[in-house]
Amino acid sequence: MATIPEGFKLVEEHFLDDINSEASLYRHELTGALVLYLKNDDPNKAFTIAFKTPPYDDNGVAHITEHSVLNGSEKYPSKEPFVELIKGSLNTFVNAMTFSDKTIYPVASTNQKDFSNLVSVYLDAVFKPKFYENTQILQQEGWHYHLPNESDDLIYKGVVYNEMKGALASAEAKLEQIKGKALYPETIYRHESGGTPASIPTLTQEKFVDFHSKYYHPSNSLTILYGDLDAENAFGQLSEYFDNFTQKDPITFEVKPEQKAHEPVLVDETYSITEGESVAKKAYLTKAWHVTTADHQKEVVALDILEEILLGSTSAPLKKALLNAGIGGDVYGGHDEVGYVHPFEVTLKYTDVDKVNQFEEIIHDVFSSLVTDGIPDDLVTAAINKLSFKLKETVISESFPRGVIYGITSLGSWLYGESPFEALSFTSVIDELKADAKDGYFETLIKDKLLDNTHTTTIKLAPEPGKSDRLEKELLEKLKDYKNKLSRDELEGLVKQTETLIKRQQTPDKPEDLAKIPTLEKSDLSASVADIPLEIDTIDDRQTYLVPLFTSGIDYTSLYFDISDLSNEDISTISLLSDVLGELPTAKHSVAQLHTAVDISTGGIRTAVKVVSQTDGTYKPYFVVKGKSLSEYATKLVDLIQEIILTTEFDHKSNILEVIHSNISGFEQKVNYRAHIVSAQRAVSHLLSGVKYQEAVSGIDYYYYLKKLLSDLEDDQAFSQSVKKFEDLAHTIFSRSKVFFTFTGSNEQYDAIKPKLNELLTSFATLPLKDSSEPIPVTAKKEAFKCSQDVNYVAKAGLFKAFTPYSGQLRVLSNVIDFDYLWNTIRVQGGAYGCFNQVTRNGVFTLASYRDPNIKETFEAYNKLPDYISKLTLKEPDVLKYIIGALSTLDRPLSAADQGELAINMALTNMTYNDRVELRQEVLSTTSDDLVQLADALGHTLDESSAVVVGNAAKIEDNKELFDDVLTLF
Ligand SMILES: [Zn+2]
Repeated sequence: MATIPEGFKLVEEHFLDDINSEASLYRHELTGALVLYLKNDDPNKAFTIAFKTPPYDDNGVAHITEHSVLNGSEKYPSKEPFVELIKGSLNTFVNAMTFSDKTIYPVASTNQKDFSNLVSVYLDAVFKPKFYENTQILQQEGWHYHLPNESDDLIYKGVVYNEMKGALASAEAKLEQIKGKALYPETIYRHESGGTPASIPTLTQEKFVDFHSKYYHPSNSLTILYGDLDAENAFGQLSEYFDNFTQKDPITFEVKPEQKAHEPVLVDETYSITEGESVAKKAYLTKAWHVTTADHQKEVVALDILEEILLGSTSAPLKKALLNAGIGGDVYGGHDEVGYVHPFEVTLKYTDVDKVNQFEEIIHDVFSSLVTDGIPDDLVTAAINKLSFKLKETVISESFPRGVIYGITSLGSWLYGESPFEALSFTSVIDELKADAKDGYFETLIKDKLLDNTHTTTIKLAPEPGKSDRLEKELLEKLKDYKNKLSRDELEGLVKQTETLIKRQQTPDKPEDLAKIPTLEKSDLSASVADIPLEIDTIDDRQTYLVPLFTSGIDYTSLYFDISDLSNEDISTISLLSDVLGELPTAKHSVAQLHTAVDISTGGIRTAVKVVSQTDGTYKPYFVVKGKSLSEYATKLVDLIQEIILTTEFDHKSNILEVIHSNISGFEQKVNYRAHIVSAQRAVSHLLSGVKYQEAVSGIDYYYYLKKLLSDLEDDQAFSQSVKKFEDLAHTIFSRSKVFFTFTGSNEQYDAIKPKLNELLTSFATLPLKDSSEPIPVTAKKEAFKCSQDVNYVAKAGLFKAFTPYSGQLRVLSNVIDFDYLWNTIRVQGGAYGCFNQVTRNGVFTLASYRDPNIKETFEAYNKLPDYISKLTLKEPDVLKYIIGALSTLDRPLSAADQGELAINMALTNMTYNDRVELRQEVLSTTSDDLVQLADALGHTLDESSAVVVGNAAKIEDNKELFDDVLTLF
């Protein structure tokens, strides 16, 4: 029994069935700080401390504070203890996040000692940061006037400044901002808590420090402790800080919209696209309503279900009506539950602003007819089942530590003075809604919250070619004027300030400061690797990989079809085939009926092309069909899989166009938020045939294919040919001689589904597998893709295999490169939001930057990497840190489903348990010399590399001599 320190009083306790935890709420008597302790046997312990941080304008103070507290504190005075910590910790999660009204600091680890180290550094960071006396922290993390030489152009620089410039460049981010302002003009939600590039430079050191002292106080904090942890120790750590404070008046801030009759608001705005680009069909239309507040839990859950009903699939009534009207290419939206006020919204993309009346009429008509005629019962049942399945799966998921998810969930209403327990008990609410649905609950919800609700806004967002370049120019002019007005002394002052900041960035921390950061010792590290059981069975004569694990009764079943004999010219078409299956009618069902049937009986059926690469550079593509369902629905799952892959009817042009549009939209979203992945994959694709294949499945090649197909399909004859092609491909692929199965779940579950899978086999044709196609030829090259972005994503990739084998030492080196070299050169000095490297088992070394203002300088920094490594002099404790960091990526807890995936991937790539053990031993025994010796190999690797930049058109033009090809993305 843990003893909770005296200063904390138990307020309330419950057992929460849905998350299988004993939940106790404690109050720290001196300050009123609240602590929610969720006790259970999950080894992945989590800690989250949250503060209410209401923004009062757009200067980003909450966000900059979030960054800056992690830049040194009283006990841990090095420049970035946070970075030191992730370098050498076994954490499963470390982050800090600013929301519209709160800032949270979550950490998680499966190792108790590591966990308390993380908590210690985080508590000192939030309560005792160094930025009160060190004004360079605001300059570094927030913004500063950057002027290395008097003759240079004056610019703004700073981590958050650049981050937000990237984050707010997209149309979607712009819509978010407009929505908050239009719906909630009298609350804090009208502000951009992340900060806007225009306002960030108005933040002064004084306002910055004030904000921290006002809000980072125990009385304004909410803490969540979760899992199988040493509670006495964790509460003791809290006391150490909380006990130094006294109670402060609770902070109130305006979260409630005014109680008045709201009139609909119409907003007209523009976003930037590349100069010279056509504006046709590039507008966005959004309609948003204020629907509820965080203290209405039942409505909150009901609105999630309503989102599923109205917009959950292409056949959902609202989405379908808008798509069928032919006024736009993609529809998305739903219930937004981040702050106290919750909007519901629907956005039409790839449209023109003059379609706004039609857009509003269609929405109105859909709602009216649903209210008058009622929502079909099975649509409601399917939506509720889909949500229940998702919640059930979260409880066994590991992709994000559960303790962190539950922390964020409880804050959803706890932050506003409600009970923290409520949001963690969802089953009872769902049951209640199931019953209420029969009495017209959801129809009334549509009527009251949407149809008759005048607290609404309609936003027209039109494309404006060259807007961001124009704004950038205006800013440079403004800064030029400002510079011209400065006196000699002031100019010298700025140069001096820039110089000292650069010096700070380049000066390593004092070893004695670094030594203060708590770390693990070698003896805390385990040398063992958890094995995953894998059994090989056969169903009739077809092989099955069976991963017998506890999955809370969920069956994870897949079919792999070997497609290595299909022509390389068809790769993108096969990928599109995988995207349209499930989105077209079948012999038995319309699309709407199919979606409903899938949602009622399963947790989803997905099809995709998967490329399995071997270490020798060969690869094999598969067409994979994945399904999951509760075990009692196994028969239904297999029936639906059979129906989709064998009886889909392809002759439905509008459905296929919808899928193409939604894929194009998805890819463009990816470029807006995760373009480093796009540029990195592209760079590797010029080196490895298997990744070149993947480009045609999901990369830039696939995007170009879809764009071309979209215009080709306007011709009906071309469409008929496509239908024929899909039919031929489906007929060729789904053959019994090409298939094998995988299954993750208990042995009993497998035995139950096996006869059904056997039956499925008998329905397949038996076309033999022919000879494999030739591997796609590749040559290293340097490419740039221009798009309407303010920032760049700079990637470089090379093959190291010819110079050194894949090893544990490389994994440790990769950690050194990330946290030592790239962090300092690309992020701290270059001003990019992030940068990472990767070494893979198939011999690829990749470097990629994220939201990077530079191109050339980044390549230069990449090129200097081998030299840096050759001069590396790491002391033993430093090497140990990097070893621990490398282990933490090997040790990430995996859900049963993910363990199943891993075991199957290992089998397909001929990776053995011993390979994993060996890799771990190599990591554990890495020395400083081992790392230095890799410098040469890395040098050769980078000499023969390929490079890809996705980014700002003007910046790419300025650097076009660096590339073999410069192309336009969008
Ligand atoms: Zn940030």
